[in-house]
Amino acid sequence: MLSEFDLIARYFTRPTRHTVLGVGDDAALLAPSPGSELVASTDMLVEGVHFFAGADPESLGHKALAVNLSDLAAMGATPRWAMLSLALPQVDEDWLAAFSRGFFALAEHYQVDLVGGDTTRGPRNICVQIMGEVRAGTALRRDGARVGDDVWVSGHLGDAAAAVAHQKGDLRLRGAGLAHCLVRLDRPQPRVALGRALGGIASAAIDVSDGLVADLGHICTRSGVAASVDFESLPCSAAFMPMRNHALVVWAILSGGDDYELCFTVPPGRAGEVEALSGRLGIALSRVGKIVAGSGVKVIDSGGRPMPVERGGFDHFH
Ligand code: ADP
Ligand code: MG
Repeated sequence: MLSEFDLIARYFTRPTRHTVLGVGDDAALLAPSPGSELVASTDMLVEGVHFFAGADPESLGHKALAVNLSDLAAMGATPRWAMLSLALPQVDEDWLAAFSRGFFALAEHYQVDLVGGDTTRGPRNICVQIMGEVRAGTALRRDGARVGDDVWVSGHLGDAAAAVAHQKGDLRLRGAGLAHCLVRLDRPQPRVALGRALGGIASAAIDVSDGLVADLGHICTRSGVAASVDFESLPCSAAFMPMRNHALVVWAILSGGDDYELCFTVPPGRAGEVEALSGRLGIALSRVGKIVAGSGVKVIDSGGRPMPVERGGFDHFH
């Protein structure tokens, strides 16, 4: 049986690119670039809460890092370093090999160094800490939205939640539409390039991990404003178009989590810059509403009526 240290050496030790001292000592030594601020975030995936027992380990390796990269994207930061804390019920080398393959494929893509972590026996639990940098004073925060700003969303909303609804038997997806939604659930692509490019353009940003209404609500709370969202303008996959008014699809678009798109606010005079970015990065960017005075998020239907929104977002303690 592999020892804890052999396991770390075999599966979680790779050459680093921009790290003074990585895996193997009591702590890592990191040197952020002069003039930058260190940006740090962490996200945990727990078996039975965030993923099903028996979930594909390569996808889990990808997703554990992807959800963390998404938080840095929402700050407009460049990801640099990650730490990985793992609790595993037993040493399963097939699982470890696939998990580390998924993790490092994404880490390579974003040039992120794995610089340390912790490994222990226990119910399967994956905790990644991500660190990156942003030019001092230029991070995208949740508290910068102003009345009159437009609300924008990247990509499509609701795919991941629709995939979960399909897996639970609550929604029937087929063929290419199903395949697309499953990839979006299992292999989310964090919007890192978009986040970095939005620095200096967006007034506030957040990644959509808990559903649009909940996450835009966080921008509103932190900024002391309200938002009015036009349901018809919300971007969703072609697979949903025929059932766009199905209650579950409406729910997936407004309140489904796990999309890892960015929701951001931009002064209306800068809309042209956002459109140019969409072309340059090849990412759909949709203007979906307005920041207004007040509090909370309202969603308006095609007839101009406010839509009832189910208590949006995921809250582990409700
Ligand atoms: P300590 O006893 O000081 O906590 P550990 O024995 O837990 O140290 O870890 C040894 C080294 O391996 C440390 O550099 C730690 O950061 C790293 N490490 C442990 N687990 C992981 C992991 N899953 N991925 C990457 N690095 C790890
Ligand atoms: Mg330790």
